Amino acid sequence: MLAVTSHGLKDMRVEDVPRPGLEQSTDAIVRVTTAALCGSDMHIYHGKVPAVPDGWVVGHEFCGVVEDVGDAVTGIKPGDRVVAAMYTACGHCAACVAGDHRRCKSFAMFGFGEAWGGLQGGQAEYVRVPLADMTLRAIPEGLSDESTIFTGDILATAFTALRQAAVREGDFIAIVGAGPVGQLIAMCAPLFGVARAFIIDIVPERLAEGAALGAVPIDSRTESPRKIIKEQTGGEMCDAVFEAVGNAPALQTAFSLPRPNGVVALVGMPLGEDFPLSAGDAWLRNTKIVPVLGAPFAHRDELLRLIAAGKIDAAGIITDRIPLAGATEAYRAFDDKEVQKVVFEVSK
Ligand SMILES: [Zn+2]
Ligand SMILES: [Zn+2]
Repeated sequence: MLAVTSHGLKDMRVEDVPRPGLEQSTDAIVRVTTAALCGSDMHIYHGKVPAVPDGWVVGHEFCGVVEDVGDAVTGIKPGDRVVAAMYTACGHCAACVAGDHRRCKSFAMFGFGEAWGGLQGGQAEYVRVPLADMTLRAIPEGLSDESTIFTGDILATAFTALRQAAVREGDFIAIVGAGPVGQLIAMCAPLFGVARAFIIDIVPERLAEGAALGAVPIDSRTESPRKIIKEQTGGEMCDAVFEAVGNAPALQTAFSLPRPNGVVALVGMPLGEDFPLSAGDAWLRNTKIVPVLGAPFAHRDELLRLIAAGKIDAAGIITDRIPLAGATEAYRAFDDKEVQKVVFEVSK
């Protein structure tokens, strides 16, 4: 089967690899119909994720059709259209029951190598899905792959971020980075009743998309986000700031924007970056730092309902649809910011 495989720094290949089969009675095999390229895949592309062996199949956002299930799978059956969560968990241990799936002994992320649980990814024609009853959700009748695929990762991440930052009605928020996750935060923000969302980027097209979603765009190449937000919030600054890039300049901007006792949510996977403020400054401002790993299990049913009700149009952020065979070039183009949100059309 065809799959996108990592071979170290800036070397993603489309290769013919062995097709996976069932290994555990709780597994499913999914024939992938649509997969997405996520910003966090770029950390693998840039060699920042340790223990991703050469030839590892990448990808953790995917939809497909169930091909086969193990004997212990009861919730889904061959032929069902499904969307996967980006990681697996057992669903019934103490950690899972508490909603802390990251602590589950069965936690494993698709396509992130050995350090993240050793699971091959979904940018492939077929993928083995452990703990299928938990990991997969049937796609509700009438909804497309494109409208639902992001409930497994970036849409759940955006929603989780707003929840974990405890955003409330009347809040001022800032989103640093108008990429796919930043746009989805802007898209979901009205559901939380925010008074105003600011969105900060350096790419005019991305800012225009943020503005179309109702956020106030700020081009940080030519304007000072801190100055503008100070003016427009009557000096209050932001109740919550969402860092949705994951690099040093974005962190710097993000930490300049919260009010005293405000929240900075780290959404953008800032691997290898230092905090731009001292422990003393964090204490003085009482800045709450909230690292966000999206929680699809906690939010996907609610998100699927919101999508079905027309309250969230997550498919609207897709800019490029590319056959899986074009993945190598898609990674390069994404890295060079020529494309924004890529989905791979894998099969019908
Ligand atoms: Zn992701
Ligand atoms: Zn568990």
